[in-house]
This record gives sequence, structure tokens and C-alpha cells, in this order.
Amino acid sequence: DDTRIVTPEIRGDEIDGTMRPQVLDDFVGQAQARANLKIFIGAAKARGEALDHVLFVGPPGLGKTTLAQIMARELGVNFRATSGPVIAKAGDLAALLTNLEERDVLFIDEIHRLSPAVEEVLYPAMEDYQLDLIIGEGPAARSVKIDLAKFTLVAATTRLGLLTTPLRDRFGIPVRLQFYTVAELEHIVKRGASILGLGIAEDGAHEIAKRSRGTPRIAGRLLRRVRDFAIVAGIERVDRALADKALLQLEVDAAGLDSLDRRYLTQVAVNFGGGPVGIETIAAALSEPRDAIEEIVEPYLIQNGFLQRTPRGRVLTPVAFSHLGLAAPGRPEG
Ligand code: ADP
Repeated sequence: DDTRIVTPEIRGDEIDGTMRPQVLDDFVGQAQARANLKIFIGAAKARGEALDHVLFVGPPGLGKTTLAQIMARELGVNFRATSGPVIAKAGDLAALLTNLEERDVLFIDEIHRLSPAVEEVLYPAMEDYQLDLIIGEGPAARSVKIDLAKFTLVAATTRLGLLTTPLRDRFGIPVRLQFYTVAELEHIVKRGASILGLGIAEDGAHEIAKRSRGTPRIAGRLLRRVRDFAIVAGIERVDRALADKALLQLEVDAAGLDSLDRRYLTQVAVNFGGGPVGIETIAAALSEPRDAIEEIVEPYLIQNGFLQRTPRGRVLTPVAFSHLGLAAPGRPEG
């Protein structure tokens, strides 16, 4: 379902690039990650050395790419970006690496999707800033080592568990990003509205923030849709009533759950008695890829107390039943 409004991983439908924070101090939230990065960046600059390799871990839309860009800017170096699935062959990565200048930031999104052959090239590059290439074939083949510029790899993944241990171990600075609080998202929404030249009341910003699934990318997207409503209705200042009306029309409910979230909860509640039920079974019942469910749907449901992951499978909480307006199993009606 590509039209899912709160799907955080689809890009290109974001508030103008101008809404992307440009410096660390404009980046709202992730206080701990920000404080650590600030220290490491300061130290690397003071020593005139490349920053150690950084791995960002967390659900889509939380600001991994944005932070990588900010880091390059704060370090005063070039930013080059690619992603795991795009690097098809070892040679593609070799070409990228040999074009880097001293201390540049190379950003690889979805690093868990690198092929093993490409990973082999990455190891010595990360560790010794060297490329080991095999030139030629058969008996004439020979191995050559090429020195690379001392660069910083900044990688992002939504699935730490899919990274091989040797790759994971080569990152000196692992950073886990958290879902944002409503207060942080409110700040982001207000900042976005001011960049868009849209008037917004406190309660309007709060309503959008509350329903953004803890995710800045979704906050930005909902803000844009609400702005469309405001323009059509000829309203200059977004308040709670308008935000609520717009978001309901977009099928984002009061808890910020969208139709896929609700389909997930309803399936498990109605067809599997609230669980425990395996992820494969749920994915099949919803006709959605397991990956998307594990990466996008479940983390938010778990974080917000709708769902638990147990060794025997997924289990809905009483909160989920009450959100659906259903009685929890084994509990009296009402
Ligand atoms: P990720 O790489 O984790 O999927 P991005 O860095 O692409 O996420 O961020 C998604 C969107 O959310 C971007 O439009 C970005 O400007 C916005 N955004 C992310 N984090 C913040 C933040 N802390 N403050 C304001 N906007 C943010």
C-alpha cells in the first residue's frame, strides 16, 4: 500500500529541503546522540583527523540522513551519499571510495542490504583505508592494494540484527535513535509551519505532533497535508479542529495510527484472539511484506504499549483492545 500517509520510508514527499535542519543546534530531540556527536566532531576537528565511523540505528524517518549531512557540514568536509541496495558490485563501491577526499563523509543508507562481496571491499577500507583489488582473471590475476583517503563512513540501518558481526564491530561510534516525544515533534511542526509561512495555533501543532507516530518525517508530511486543507478551506491559522478534521480524512486516528496499523491490530485481535501469533502468519494475513511490518508497523505499536513481542509470538495488550473498542479476551465486556 504505497499511498499510506504515515509510511515513513517513502521520500520525496517532504517539506521543502529548507525544513531539514542544517546544523546540530537546530536539530530537535535525540539529546544524547547530539551531545555525543558534538564531542566526537569537536575532537576530530581539533586533531585534524577523520572522525571514527558512525552507525545510526533506528526506524525510518527519525533523522539518520539529516544527522549524517549535518556531521559533514560541521566537519567542513564533502558529503557523498549512497545506499546498500544501490551498490550492486564491489567495483561500484571501489569507485565511490577512490573518489573520496581526506576526511570526507560517505553515507551508506540501508547498510544491512549490502551484498557479501561488497562488504568484503568495505572491511579493509574502513580499517586500514585500503582497497584490495583483484585485477585480471585466472593465472594472470594479481592483487593490488590502493591507498584511500582517510574518510568517515556514516551508515544507517533500520535493522541492526541483519548486520554481520564483523561489519558491526568496525563502527567506533554506534548511535541508536529514539522515537521523538510529542513536545519535540510540536517544536518540529511549529518550525516547519513557520518555514512554510503557515499560521498554526499551539493546539493545532500539538494535534499534529501527537499523531505523527513519533517520527519527524511523518510530522512534516502531515503538516503539508493539513496545510492543503487549510488552503482549500480558506483558513489562515491551523487549529486543533482543522488538524483533527484533516487527519481523520487521511485516516490517521487519534493515537496517530493509520489504516495499516489498525488492520494489523484488528487481525491479531479478531482472527488470532489477541495472540500469541507468529510474524509470518500476520504478514500473510495482511498481505504485506514481513520486513515492512517489522521495521515500520511494529516498533511504534510496541513503543506505545499496543503490542508485545514474546518468544511465542506477538501479543496484543489490553490497551490495543480498548483502542479498537473491543473487549480483551478473558475480561468482562465493557
Ligand atoms: P532517516 O534517514 O532516519 O529515514 P531523514 O534524516 O531523512 O530520516 O529525516 C526525515 C525527515 O524528517 C526530513 O525531512 C528531515 O528534515 C526531518 N527531520 C528529521 N529529524 C528531524 C529533527 N530532529 N528536526 C527537524 N526535522 C527533522
